[in-house]
This record gives sequence, C-alpha cells and structure tokens, in this order.
Amino acid sequence: MVLSVSTKSKVIDIANVRFGRLIVIELLPYRANSRHAMWNCLCDCGQKIAVSSNSLKRGHTKSCGCLNLAKIKERMSKHGMYGTPEYRSWIAMFSRCSNPMRKGFVNYGGRGIKICKHWKNFENFYKDMGERPVGKSLDRKNNDGDYTPDNCRWATPKEQANNRRKRNSNKSKEESNEANATKTGNGN
Ligand SMILES: [Zn+2]
Repeated sequence: MVLSVSTKSKVIDIANVRFGRLIVIELLPYRANSRHAMWNCLCDCGQKIAVSSNSLKRGHTKSCGCLNLAKIKERMSKHGMYGTPEYRSWIAMFSRCSNPMRKGFVNYGGRGIKICKHWKNFENFYKDMGERPVGKSLDRKNNDGDYTPDNCRWATPKEQANNRRKRNSNKSKEESNEANATKTGNGN
C-alpha cells in the first residue's frame, strides 16, 4: 500500500511494523528535514515517539529512549559500582567538563579541560584511580591539565588547597566540595 503525504512523493506504508521496541502506529502529517516521512510509534514501555522512516529503517531508533537507559543500567550493574564514591566522582567529573548548565563549568569544560579517552569508560577510571579514600576527592595535580591517570589523585580539601597555593592558580573549589558533600551525605 502506498500513502501520499503533504508532498507529492510516495511513502512506503510501515504501519504495524515492529522496529526493536517500537511498533509503528501511523503516519504523521509532517516530514523530517522536509525529506523523510515521520511516523508516530508506540514503545513497549508505553511511551509514544515520532521517528522518521529513515531512522527506523537504518536501525538508529529502536525505542523511545528507554532502551539506551536500560543498556546503561545494565553496564553499570555489571561492574556493580553504581552509586559508589568512585562512581559519583566519575560522574561529577563528566558533569564539570560537559554540562554548561552546571555552576563551575567555566572552570572546567568551559576553559578546555578534557577527560582522557581511556576514562570515558568507568572501569578504566576505577582501575587507574582505585578506591576513593574517605574525605578525599578527585584532584588534578596540574590545574591547567586534563583529567588523565598521570594528572589525577585522590586528595583531601587541604591537600587540594596546598596544591592551589603552590601553583598560585585560581582553581575552583568544585572538586574539593565533592569530598565535603559526601561527608554531609549530599554527594552527587
Ligand atoms: Zn520506551
């Protein structure tokens, strides 16, 4: 069966076809980038989502987004470190470097501080850094350097302050706050 949309070109009917967790419900009256037909889809989790025929056919979109979330959770539960101090430090490091909405971003990602490729994987980070001692948080020895195995250590707020003074830099307190936050139970 062939349907016509607002434009004159033909659209292959994929209604009721399953792509991963998605079942295609109906054609939508608009197009993605004015090229690809858009379909209203129902995810197994109950969410509806509009997806282009192109994304469906190429396998780019297989759920409303819940599949990615499930994959992340599965990966996390594999290493069993989800919610641990080390894991929270790792997440906070990413947030400092990649979330412009975060207070303090200007001192990290905002001025080009990067995370080494190897550490995009939590297991590698944990292997290199080991357990986070109580009261310590992630510290970069060189405040202008990136997050790398060579440049990082677990340090107390005092050690971090000494490090700042020695280098006479204006390092943000964000990192040492991490240790304090944990002590009061507000760690992120
Ligand atoms: Zn879903």
